[in-house]
Amino acid sequence: MDEAITRRDFFPTLERMSRSELDALQLKKLQLRVGRAYDSIPFYRERYQTAGVSPDDIKSLDDLRRLPLVTKEDILADEARHPPYGSFLGVPEEAIWEILTSSGTSGKGREVHAFTQRDCVLRGSNFAVAFAWAGVSAADAVIFHVGASNSASIGSLTRGIRAVGRLPYLVGHAGFDERIDLMLQFGFDAMWCMPSALNGLSQLLRERGIEPRKQWPNTRSVMIAAESFPVEWVHSMEEFWGCKIYEEYGATQAHGGIGMTNCERGAVIGSRRGAMHFFSWTLLFEVLNPDTLEPVKAGEEGDLVITHLDKEASPLVRFRTRDRVRWFPSTECPCGRCLDFVESGTVGRWDDMMKVKGQNLFPPHVDRVLFSFESIDEYQGRLFIDEHGRDNVEVRYSFREKPGDKTSFERNLIAALKEETHLTMRVTEVAPDELPHFITPDQKARRWTDERQAGLIKSAAQTGDTK
Ligand SMILES: [Zn+2]
Repeated sequence: MDEAITRRDFFPTLERMSRSELDALQLKKLQLRVGRAYDSIPFYRERYQTAGVSPDDIKSLDDLRRLPLVTKEDILADEARHPPYGSFLGVPEEAIWEILTSSGTSGKGREVHAFTQRDCVLRGSNFAVAFAWAGVSAADAVIFHVGASNSASIGSLTRGIRAVGRLPYLVGHAGFDERIDLMLQFGFDAMWCMPSALNGLSQLLRERGIEPRKQWPNTRSVMIAAESFPVEWVHSMEEFWGCKIYEEYGATQAHGGIGMTNCERGAVIGSRRGAMHFFSWTLLFEVLNPDTLEPVKAGEEGDLVITHLDKEASPLVRFRTRDRVRWFPSTECPCGRCLDFVESGTVGRWDDMMKVKGQNLFPPHVDRVLFSFESIDEYQGRLFIDEHGRDNVEVRYSFREKPGDKTSFERNLIAALKEETHLTMRVTEVAPDELPHFITPDQKARRWTDERQAGLIKSAAQTGDTK
């Protein structure tokens, strides 16, 4: 039955290329890209010379693997040596039209990526493809729950919404109650939201006695991103909102926006997870076994590697994301596009980075804050869905020696955690024997538990109860 969903292309020629046409286009763009990187971008020239490869060696798409991988650490080190754009900018500074900074902590670990005007238009059109596949058309108002910042979100979303629909108005800057007021005031036809925010929003709507499927009966789709989710939670959200849920994958390094998204069939099809198809005409994705660095086979998990085929400023060639994805060839989705895909709802991380409220949270950064307080003995962190249905962080800690004024101690602790991680965390003192004690540094990650998937399943069950 879902096979009957209408075909919705945004760039029909590009999206519907045959495999051989697509391979030829990718190879041609890759050769131009590598040639330019070698001739005029010091960052790549040095690396390619060290690796003993030159543009002439790129004769097939498989030859891409002869080029060295680039990591976040490489970018950060290069940008520290050549601030602020590093030696991979590739365009004159006067050509920079917009900058994005990846989410990081306290100015450390924050990559800078520049965009030319052409890059920005392309970035917007990548969002437009995603919204088009999710059923948005010219008469539709689309809202997004993202605050304004130098992240990948605001410019790309407003451009993408305008390219395929209309009226992107801001709600992400406001508290959840005010967001609902704005949604009631202006209405909307489609929405972009992170899963935990959608969950929190849904809970607040239930508390206010508002049923989205009655209040906004024409809602076409809700698009989610950035966090993994259980299948049953998608079922409950589709029931509650009265529309299909779509997932996109975005990253600052994926041309500052969406690099893959669900086709018409959505994030979940019956009891199966949907397909997020690569935008292969403009981004070249590899999915590699993290140990052997060989491409994975159908259905296997690997490390997602991104090469920009069109981006002019700060181009990336073989950027290793450390995002853990499950890869499938295009033939496994019946939508007919020759675009390979990754499974929806299961994108994770190979390292111990966690995504909380759109921020990247690294356990070592929390360690650094906690253990800068001499009176703290040990701690454990937990990510959970709180009483408002939103994701939250609790740090349970014990004292080595109790300070005189615990209230002001905790106020300082919360402020220091916020300063380092940009997240407001709950802190709870517990007795020292309630916490496991770790001695070796490689046990750090075990200080953390993530209870959010279980929390979303519980929310889904509660939605069922109140129907
Ligand atoms: Zn498909």
